[in-house]
Amino acid sequence: MAGRPEALFPLFAPLERLEGVGPKTAALLERMGIVRPVDLLFALPHGVALRRRLSTLAEAVPPETVVLEIEVEGHRPPVRRGRPWRVLARDAAGLPLEIVFFHPRRQWIERTLPAGARRTVSGKLEEFDGRWQIVHPDHVLPSGRADEIPLAEPLHPLTEGLGRRQMRRAVTAALARLPALPEWIDPHLLAREGWPGWAEALRLAHAPQGPEDVAPSSPARRRLAYDELFAHQLALAIARARWRRRPGIARRFSGALQEKVRAALPFPLTGAQERAIAEINADLAAPQRMNRLLQGDVGAGKTLVAFMALLAAIESGGQGALMAPTEILARQHLQGLRPWAEAAGITIALLTGRDGGRARTEKLRRLAAGEIDLLVGTHALFSEGVAFRDLALAVIDEQHRFGVRQRLELTEKGHRTDLLVMTATPIPRSLALAAYGDMDLSILDEKPPGRRPVKTALVSNERLEAVVARLAHAVAEGRQAYWVCPLVEESDVLDLAAAEDRYRALAAALGPERVALVHGQMPPEARDRAMAAFAAGEVPVLVATTVIEVGVDVPAASIMVIEGAERFGLSQLHQLRGRVGRGAAESHCLLLYTPPLGETARRRLEIMRESEDGFRIAEEDLRIRGAGDVLGTAQSGLPRFRVADLESQADLAALAQSDARALLAADPALSSERGRAARHLLWLLEKDRALSLLGAG
Ligand code: ADP
Ligand code: MG
Repeated sequence: MAGRPEALFPLFAPLERLEGVGPKTAALLERMGIVRPVDLLFALPHGVALRRRLSTLAEAVPPETVVLEIEVEGHRPPVRRGRPWRVLARDAAGLPLEIVFFHPRRQWIERTLPAGARRTVSGKLEEFDGRWQIVHPDHVLPSGRADEIPLAEPLHPLTEGLGRRQMRRAVTAALARLPALPEWIDPHLLAREGWPGWAEALRLAHAPQGPEDVAPSSPARRRLAYDELFAHQLALAIARARWRRRPGIARRFSGALQEKVRAALPFPLTGAQERAIAEINADLAAPQRMNRLLQGDVGAGKTLVAFMALLAAIESGGQGALMAPTEILARQHLQGLRPWAEAAGITIALLTGRDGGRARTEKLRRLAAGEIDLLVGTHALFSEGVAFRDLALAVIDEQHRFGVRQRLELTEKGHRTDLLVMTATPIPRSLALAAYGDMDLSILDEKPPGRRPVKTALVSNERLEAVVARLAHAVAEGRQAYWVCPLVEESDVLDLAAAEDRYRALAAALGPERVALVHGQMPPEARDRAMAAFAAGEVPVLVATTVIEVGVDVPAASIMVIEGAERFGLSQLHQLRGRVGRGAAESHCLLLYTPPLGETARRRLEIMRESEDGFRIAEEDLRIRGAGDVLGTAQSGLPRFRVADLESQADLAALAQSDARALLAADPALSSERGRAARHLLWLLEKDRALSLLGAG
């Protein structure tokens, strides 16, 4: 199919082609990201204002929103600044009513409600001091025009300068252009759920008659949410099918290298690790290319699973790559893997952006010659000039920044490398489906035994002195601590200033030789030196900004202090806390907060105290904050859904995935009747990029 279906053209035309939308309205809409009629369609009302027409106040059941005929008696302007302007009026039966305005323009109010005039007003009627009043009526019209005030008024998103009626007019004009599109939802599903067709769903969603019609559970909204999830999953399924269609290599290995490492390990693998390794081994042995996500909580032992996978790839005659998001983590991986690599008898090397000159040239030569089995590094691994002899498996660690788009691009590059992505962000299943729906999923839902729980406490920063005294005491006992400084806005510079202040204060209290500082703006060498000194136990306290990767493994550290904890996401707090509790000693995590703590903030932090289960924490975080914030849309590769709400409509996400995969399996070219309808959906929701991956290659 060449391009966007013609039926959709009117929806993608300029806004000003819509009746009643001039340049001024268009400019206002644009401020809300609404630039085409199609955007108006998905700007659904967030609420509905219900009103009742009263012939007299005697019928009122306050508080309620009413439409009423009144006669203005006079004005009582404010006697002092800050007091309201009162308009005194009576209803048809002569009952008194006050209409109250704060800071109205005198000219406007005297012209709108002149004494003696009859008007139709609408607003929330309240009883105050035994008097009826309406504060800031939402409609004031000449008498006799009550019919113009809708009894159920949709509350559309607005922006300053854009009125409700103006917005409604624009939406109505866009709805008038709805084309008849073929149905892309499976008819059985549609019937089972009792969903309206697409156009009907939009009309209903824009004209709610009550609160149930704006709820995510309303049939119209669920249908539109499903459209969105289904389109997204279909795009992912296309990418996935494309990936799988490219011939991979059926890797042949006996598991001999893996056995050597098992024999050398001082501990047995967990059941979850065994399952994940089996899933990965099966993928590697199959002729399709692997595209798998390994998800597991901090400390679940992902690295070992990844290493086992790399050994299988290496045993089959290929090479492996392990990419970490930062230099420090790459080094740490190298150190951690070295003993296992020795046990397996493979050659391992490190490549980072800091390598240069002859050393780099020599490494690249050995890599190209196949003398290096496993290359560990940062994104430098995939930079130009780095050529493997035969890269069989790439493992990407902790890459939440590696979104669907990048994975799509990797598929487009078309090498035959298998891919394993590790993430320690324990995201709820509904989000995992949305963010990683093109990948197969292995979950490490079990931690190695023997880990001691981390004792977590919430402490007001008014008690900072006591905390520092306790820290001094712990340091004297030979313990080690991280001190994470708060996120100050979105600014590295301010973060840094806060961290430096804290560093100075702690150095003064504990002795400068006992405290090290690391932050994102340090030269990498200095940062490594500070980290190394901490890891070696030479410096007991490490002050850090979150900019620096705290993903390092220092088992001796048993105290984690997080300042300004209320400003962190729960998952982030969980990640940070996961840095302690790795050794034999009992560990503590102190969450310092700035009082007063709001209700929500307190509830969030209390979850940290109650649970160490990353999945539970992530679910709670999602419930409290909503999906966008949990992952950070930009970071996660998670699309911004306009209708779908992953929290309350999680069931739809799973359904959309299986449905999308089933459709594509039955109709790989999307050429059946339903397949062609689904193409319309992809165009409509601008997932058409995936269509270019269909059919070809
Ligand atoms: P993750 O990357 O999932 O956060 P790691 O791979 O860093 O976790 O593992 C954390 C620690 O647990 C490492 O020191 C690792 O050697 C150790 N470990 C891994 N698997 C096991 C196991 N089955 N039993 C005991 N310890 C393990
Ligand atoms: Mg790790």
